[in-house]
Amino acid sequence: MAILVTGAAGYIGSHAVQRLLKDGRTVVGLDNMERGNDGAVEALRELGGKRFTFEQGDTTDRSHLERLMLHNHVDAVLHFAALSLVGESVLRPLEYHRNNSLVPLMEAVRDARVKRVVFSSTCAVYGQPPSTPVTEDAPYAPLSPYGMSKLHGEQVLDDFLGGRRHQNFPFAFAALRYFNVAGCDRTGVLGEDHDPHSHIIPIVLEVALGKREHITIFGEDYDTPDGTCIRDYIHVEDLVDAHLRVLDALQDGEGRRYNLGIGKGYSVKDIIESCRRVTGHAIPTEVGPRRPGDPPALFADPGKVQKELGWKAEITELDAIIESAWKWMKANPEGYKK
Ligand code: UDP
Repeated sequence: MAILVTGAAGYIGSHAVQRLLKDGRTVVGLDNMERGNDGAVEALRELGGKRFTFEQGDTTDRSHLERLMLHNHVDAVLHFAALSLVGESVLRPLEYHRNNSLVPLMEAVRDARVKRVVFSSTCAVYGQPPSTPVTEDAPYAPLSPYGMSKLHGEQVLDDFLGGRRHQNFPFAFAALRYFNVAGCDRTGVLGEDHDPHSHIIPIVLEVALGKREHITIFGEDYDTPDGTCIRDYIHVEDLVDAHLRVLDALQDGEGRRYNLGIGKGYSVKDIIESCRRVTGHAIPTEVGPRRPGDPPALFADPGKVQKELGWKAEITELDAIIESAWKWMKANPEGYKK
């Protein structure tokens, strides 16, 4: 039996494969390599040996997915592959809806009789929630095609589960709503390498590397203690750990939803201060206008996942999260070798 990991060459997917291989599992990785990294795949091949197979392919290619699942006796899918940039999704909505559609994947799951799916969802399904911390029963109100595409994915899973129940066919899924995923594998083998970087921590660290002159703070007039936006930064290793726990806990017929965050928020200025401490670099800043659509404060209430799975984030200090990201960036200033 094997686990299929889609998006295996990407930031979160590669970390998930690494953990699965370390746990002794057999993994089939899939990535269309539009945004994935060869360097990550090479590192995973080295770690996994015969227990890791990788194929290039797209999650819109139903027949390839089905072949992969049947050939490798896949019994569970961790589905990370997606386009995931909120701003880009506003400009290219159709690409987001097409790429992030779960229909081809779930047709393959149906035909290959796979019994478990863990889906990377997002706190963007809540848009700007009426209150924080955010619980799983906050209203759905995505503000972007990205958030909407993920909510649609959850709906496809719900409907599919309903059909499976009627047929008495065993199936279960979990939709995990990520807050801001950050940090890297603490052994320094895997990193976060987007081209260009789109998230605050690697962007600030690029200033420390000398690749950028300054960091632009997107607004410091928010109604928050220091005027900058607050987010919940969850370490990628903690995030992956929650996936494995939920995969082991799922029972036939269940559709679970959990918010994944550390349950406390850090501001943009907290991030910059922490990067200064960790790197020893001055990190010049500039204040720019607010970024459209940024909610002032967004952090999770992780109480449900803690209660039901006994999971809680272990790495909650900002300096530790940033240290892990810095370790990889300092050793790989050009990212994975392309
Ligand atoms: N941010 C910023 N400057 C940047 C990039 C991000 O001030 O160059 C802020 C952004 O406005 C948000 C926070 O950092 O409040 C986290 O942004 P990121 O894009 O990393 O994640 P998001 O919360 O949008 O998913």
